[in-house]
Amino acid sequence: MSLQTQIAIIGAGIAGLTMAIKLKRMGFSDFTVIEAANEIGGTWRGCSSDVAIHLYSLSSDLCPDWMHSHALQPDILQYWLQLTAKYGLDRNISLDHKVVSAEWNGGGYDILAETGDGTRIPLTAKVLVSAVGRLGVPRFPDIPGVAEFRGVSFHSARWDTSVSLAGKRVAVVGNGPSATQFVPIISQDPSVQVTQYCRSPRWLAPPALSQYSAAQRWLFRHSPCYLRAFRSFQFFWKTDHEKYLTRYMKRVVPLEYWEEAIPSGPNLSLCPDHEQNRFFVLLTSTGSEQDDYFISIKGNAGQCVAEYYVAQGGPTAYLGTTLPGFANLFFISGGNTATGSSSVLLAVEIQTEYIIQLIQPILDGNISSLEVTVGATEAYNRYLQVKLTGFVWSKCSSWYRTGGDGKVYATFPGPMTLFWCWLRRPNWDHYTFHSATGWKPQRSVLGGIIPTCWCCCPEISRIS
Ligand SMILES: Cc1cc2nc3c(=O)[nH]c(=O)nc-3n(C[C@H](O)[C@H](O)[C@H](O)COP(=O)(O)OP(=O)(O)OC[C@H]3O[C@@H](n4cnc5c(N)ncnc54)[C@H](O)[C@@H]3O)c2cc1C
Repeated sequence: MSLQTQIAIIGAGIAGLTMAIKLKRMGFSDFTVIEAANEIGGTWRGCSSDVAIHLYSLSSDLCPDWMHSHALQPDILQYWLQLTAKYGLDRNISLDHKVVSAEWNGGGYDILAETGDGTRIPLTAKVLVSAVGRLGVPRFPDIPGVAEFRGVSFHSARWDTSVSLAGKRVAVVGNGPSATQFVPIISQDPSVQVTQYCRSPRWLAPPALSQYSAAQRWLFRHSPCYLRAFRSFQFFWKTDHEKYLTRYMKRVVPLEYWEEAIPSGPNLSLCPDHEQNRFFVLLTSTGSEQDDYFISIKGNAGQCVAEYYVAQGGPTAYLGTTLPGFANLFFISGGNTATGSSSVLLAVEIQTEYIIQLIQPILDGNISSLEVTVGATEAYNRYLQVKLTGFVWSKCSSWYRTGGDGKVYATFPGPMTLFWCWLRRPNWDHYTFHSATGWKPQRSVLGGIIPTCWCCCPEISRIS
């Protein structure tokens, strides 16, 4: 027999947990978080946050006890475990349950999850929330002959802790954020000989891990106003990154490597090194597969999410959250939600608040389903793509684009404040809904004005 729940959330990373916490805070408990792994917390393990940790904490649950400006993964995991206990989420989370499919059944979704031993668990939910993150599926480099490598090989996102690197020659492929964090750590052991292969130069920032003084932590704990003000300051603090980073790199990179190591334009290639080397360990740190959707979720239009993405040239959503043809399905961190300038957690919170407003009439029994219109989605995405042409993301190849060079699907072309403005209140004109009770959304004056700002743009006013 199928288990029943009002809301199914796929993923117990910070996004799924944030959604669960918001629901608990409104006194709602009839939801299930379905998590493939055996523990909560999500994809990233073993590294440090790269934004200030006070910004990488929930606004509803600021933590006065952070010791450093940027926390390491065990401390971040501890924070989320504490919140899970505080909100009694254990009862709502099913670990070791991988969602393999979901299909619209006319009033909700029939969901199928699979446990590690292959047991299949059916579940039905009125509302489905996808919180599966973006960095969970490793991408492997397409290097000719790599399959014949006879040594040990693994991706940094699937670190093989049974392999000791001591005394080994190690090849690292990639110089993105992950490699940048682990290369200094593995090369601390002088017996490990590390050679790093870099396709293009990267900006490097000084390690950001300053310790808070005892006085500052006392203030965090005893003055909530100070804690909030400190967090807000971090949100608005900006610098000329290029000048700052160039200055830093010139300080730490030997003069003879400046030209090769310091980025001077999009995707400047380094001189190829044809020297052949022999290695025992091949450590690929080449990012993750992001422009696909790996769960077979079929909506009311009979299409799967992955098919919709292919038809749209890559991940696409309305306000990064809803897709036409997929009633009652909501995405956290869907297409074009990363601002590139702020914490992912802020975007996650904004989206969860938005989703809760959308699903409230479903939970209240006023409507049975809702779906974003094709017109609103197309107009919004046209607008985004026009805006994005002015950003560097459109001018270089990267994992922010479909296939590396296609549509920019990952980033939002504006500051987090704009994202917040647009998602503050739903624009109900952009949704269709089924109501047996004749329910009509309430439109507040302020709520109506703010989200329509983007509708005034010429591209948006072409909404059909
Ligand atoms: C090393 C590293 C450092 C980072 N540092 C920062 C930072 O400082 N600041 C920042 O803003 N962002 C950072 N990020 C980005 C980070 O991914 C996000 O901040 C955040 O972890 C995203 O949370 P999430 O819950 O959306 O996704 P995830 O953390 O990826 O969680 C998704 C969860 O869904 C589960 N799942 C996936 N598929 C299924 C399925 N089919 N069935 C059931 N469960 C499933 C996964 O097991 C996982 O637990 C970092 C990422 C990495 C890798």
